[in-house]
Amino acid sequence: MNPCIVLFREDLRLSDHPALSAACDTGQPLLCVYLHDEQTPSARAWWLHHSLAALQRSLQQRGSQLCILRGDALQQVHALVQASGADTVYWSRRYAPAQIAADAELKTQLRAQGVQAQSFNARLLHEPWTLYNQSGAPFRVFTPYWKAALRQDAPRAVLPCPDVIPSAPLPSHSNSGENDAQSENENKGFRSLSLEELNLLPSQPNWAANFVGVPGEEGAQECLQRFINGAISRYAAQRDQPSAAATSCLSAHLQCGDISPHQIWYALQGADVSAKDREKFLSEVGWREFSYYLLYHFPQLLTEELNAKFRDFPWGGEDATNRPLIQAWQRGQTGYPMVDAAMRELWQTGIMHNRSRMIAASFLVKHLLIDWREGMRWFWETLLDADIAANTASWQWVAGCGADAAPYFRIFNPIIQAQKFDTEGDYIRRFVPELRRLPAQYLASPWSAPEATLRMAQVELGSTYPRPIVEHSAARARALDALKSLS
Ligand SMILES: Cc1cc2nc3c(=O)[nH]c(=O)nc-3n(C[C@H](O)[C@H](O)[C@H](O)COP(=O)(O)OP(=O)(O)OC[C@H]3O[C@@H](n4cnc5c(N)ncnc54)[C@H](O)[C@@H]3O)c2cc1C
Repeated sequence: MNPCIVLFREDLRLSDHPALSAACDTGQPLLCVYLHDEQTPSARAWWLHHSLAALQRSLQQRGSQLCILRGDALQQVHALVQASGADTVYWSRRYAPAQIAADAELKTQLRAQGVQAQSFNARLLHEPWTLYNQSGAPFRVFTPYWKAALRQDAPRAVLPCPDVIPSAPLPSHSNSGENDAQSENENKGFRSLSLEELNLLPSQPNWAANFVGVPGEEGAQECLQRFINGAISRYAAQRDQPSAAATSCLSAHLQCGDISPHQIWYALQGADVSAKDREKFLSEVGWREFSYYLLYHFPQLLTEELNAKFRDFPWGGEDATNRPLIQAWQRGQTGYPMVDAAMRELWQTGIMHNRSRMIAASFLVKHLLIDWREGMRWFWETLLDADIAANTASWQWVAGCGADAAPYFRIFNPIIQAQKFDTEGDYIRRFVPELRRLPAQYLASPWSAPEATLRMAQVELGSTYPRPIVEHSAARARALDALKSLS
């Protein structure tokens, strides 16, 4: 029987995987293929490695295997179809402009060869092309978008994990001239690469040593259950407090596709949780959907400001390429403890709390007037949950140039934010340990502490901890001045 190929990319799970379920329903033997994208950002690569290892184990337990390929996707799939005689190729949809174009081209080429090629929704509760405002235009504001999404039919039901996945043997490579893939697989047969050959893990130094989370489908389900059994009861009240551990920690799992939003949605519907916590939490999942919605309808979001008024804004003026300022921010050495705790949390754990992301991002674009793309790139490389839609849309939101964005005059005060959301100073003490002996009242602004208090706490400003790289009121006034020209 001809095999059916299932491509895995950002959907590294077996349950609630519509393409896999549809492939199993054909009754054909399956070739489960992971196609590696060389562009995986650094921290996320660590997650990807472990998630792929988990997927390999799950497939083996069900009598199947994961074939790992890299190189040009069109050539790889084309050559695999030729060599295996596969007549069907299924995959999950992706939504970034380059991914849409690549998958559309793949579909066209496969169909031209007489192969049945079909994509499925595995990543979003609602496809972006199913929701428009009353004028027929895409939404640009979250609340009406989410209300419209909630009025739609309920998301499709969750699909079970197939018990058995009939496996087709990996074919030898066909050496039929024009069909050969120009890749390392050429003339070697379709040797599945080992996970190690993808070289996804850091070695020297091992900067991932303190990364958090258990990648993979099982880790994702445990994470969801732990959240539902515990922290969700504090979600609405404490989700803004970085040291409260009141959020789900599901973002890297969602990014990698260890879990689907449908599984989260239905787990929440059946759970014994308050309506307030459930609705607040699901509306955050809604922000993820909205990010993908914006990316789909406004693909320019990746590179240019959604709000056209900002496109000529002279970010930073002469400071725009001020590497010392940017590096002080990246390394958590700005002299503002809340910003520094946030940036160090990111570097050490690969994750940053949402409130901290807003404070750190706002500091870069408003206090330092650095181009939001600089920050976006740094987050992209260092976040375990680096997500093309959420990262881009959120940076534009903070900068004030995106959809439903924070108004230009909302400039987070990093001192007040610390006093409000890190009241006891636990978060700052954890990530800025050189300040841990300071009384809580001075933790947000160590320079305001009396000399004797600083001495007692063994803090020497400018030596053990930096003085602020910009003065808050002056930076705020400069930002307001620059940004109000756009209003
Ligand atoms: C500047 C900036 C950059 C960001 N970059 C990313 C990113 O690259 N990847 C990413 O997944 N999130 C990003 N976020 C959104 C948010 O900070 C994280 O999703 C959240 O902190 C993840 O923690 P959690 O899973 O415990 O979230 P929870 O509060 O438990 O939320 C549940 C899920 O909802 C989604 N979500 C929550 N808040 C948002 C939001 N504001 N926008 C979009 N989706 C959201 C996430 O998938 C999250 O896992 C960014 C936010 C900012 C301000």
